[in-house]
Amino acid sequence: MEALRSMLFQCVEMLQMAPSLLLGECFSSLGRTGGRQELSLKRDGCVYHGIIQHELNHALGFYHEQTRSDRDQYVTINWEYIDPTTYHNFQKQITNNLDTPYDYSSVMHYGRYAFTTQYGKETITPIPDSRVEIGQRMGLSRTDIQRINKLYGYCE
Ligand SMILES: [Zn+2]
Repeated sequence: MEALRSMLFQCVEMLQMAPSLLLGECFSSLGRTGGRQELSLKRDGCVYHGIIQHELNHALGFYHEQTRSDRDQYVTINWEYIDPTTYHNFQKQITNNLDTPYDYSSVMHYGRYAFTTQYGKETITPIPDSRVEIGQRMGLSRTDIQRINKLYGYCE
């Protein structure tokens, strides 16, 4: 947590909760909701570095990378393999991309088989090079960090 904390700035204060409060699913509400904001990380399954950072990034206001406004230049969404009840996860958003490039290595990018209805069928295919790696959960990418700094590095 300390390493992550040092990458952030005075505008974003992270309060550590008692481990006993770390129950429920992995979730976070999107963006500034005002005051304190709860981030839930279930003990088993969510408390891996990258998943924590993924949820934290939602709390900081970031959407999934593959829903970026300009995503159609970088990925193809294969709607035919996506369960219609999960379409919202792939719907394009009007995003402020903060003058940063589309980032396949973002911790906010889904993997290529996310929500697939057919085993082995990709729901997200990078273009033009379909072999590019997507969906890592090792931790924040350089661009993820750059965006947080751009959005929060300057306080009113
Ligand atoms: Zn997410």
